[in-house]
Amino acid sequence: MTKKSVESMVRKVDTVELVKEYLENPVFKDATLVQSEILKSIRHVLDEKEFVELLPVTVSPITDPLNHPHFEAEFEYYGQKYSVTKSMILHKQVAVLVHKKIYIVSPNVRLETEDKMDSGRHLFDFVQIDMEMLEASREDVFDIMEDAIIHTIKTIKKKYPDIIRKYHPSLKTPSKPFKRYTVKELKEKYGERDYEKIASLNADEPFWMIDIPLMDREFYDKQDPKRPDVLLDFDLIYPEGFEEAISGGEREHEYEQILKRMKLKNTPPEQFEDYLAVAKAGILRHSAGCGIGIERFTRWVLALDHVEKTRLFAKTPGKHSI
Ligand code: AMP
Ligand code: MG
Repeated sequence: MTKKSVESMVRKVDTVELVKEYLENPVFKDATLVQSEILKSIRHVLDEKEFVELLPVTVSPITDPLNHPHFEAEFEYYGQKYSVTKSMILHKQVAVLVHKKIYIVSPNVRLETEDKMDSGRHLFDFVQIDMEMLEASREDVFDIMEDAIIHTIKTIKKKYPDIIRKYHPSLKTPSKPFKRYTVKELKEKYGERDYEKIASLNADEPFWMIDIPLMDREFYDKQDPKRPDVLLDFDLIYPEGFEEAISGGEREHEYEQILKRMKLKNTPPEQFEDYLAVAKAGILRHSAGCGIGIERFTRWVLALDHVEKTRLFAKTPGKHSI
């Protein structure tokens, strides 16, 4: 894309009007209050289960390649090429060797394309709580994240009943265990194209979508050894049309297998030299984990039309911002 064509797509924003909106539209105060509680509640559950909170990595020579179109955000510094962090997945696989249970409140910069402007779900700078556990299965991750979500909803309903009544009076506290559906089941029921969206619209509680097809995900999510066409990974889907909440999975840790998976997706191994060197040395071990987007969680809790209303200084794809 030329500079000019990109500029003509940008939606300009008046900075003074934006700041006035923060002060005049109560949604910003209400949503950030609820969001603060979401962060505290998830931290509380993970801390109780003896997770160690690590600091985020914001720039690195290696980061998540992602599985969808986006612009790169890279720079060179003293001869080393860096990217801003798109997710900490590759760092989590190493960090979990130091502490068996970890989480990070992790800012991710993903330069999403402008067609995502009005999706309601995308920012190009967002925060996820990214967790990982050594020698764990996806069932272990479900157990912990279900506890975190249930505790969070209960706490918010108790602490801010007026806000919930105003924005999302029908918000249900989900019950454990959340339902699970394979992608195959959902496609059979709702069709090949919009199965995730329709399933979300038809649900009234969050559910796990499991057994994601091999080619739909990156090299770090583990191939099911018994059914090689699917991965041991998952998404959590919010009900009422709010769609994806969480992505996660069990991880690949064996060098040859990682290389094989990279080749399948034409991922250039030279971009992951540091990561592959660690895998080749046989240091990585089996782990499982996931990331939950904080702005999307807030959006669902308050049934808002766009994640940009859940925080101050939101960065919406294709829009100017401060
Ligand atoms: P991923 O592993 O790529 O699915 O990212 C983990 C979680 O972060 C997702 O399930 C979403 O909740 C959230 N997320 C991903 N991309 C974005 C985005 N562009 N804007 C806001 N939240 C996002
Ligand atoms: Mg995802």
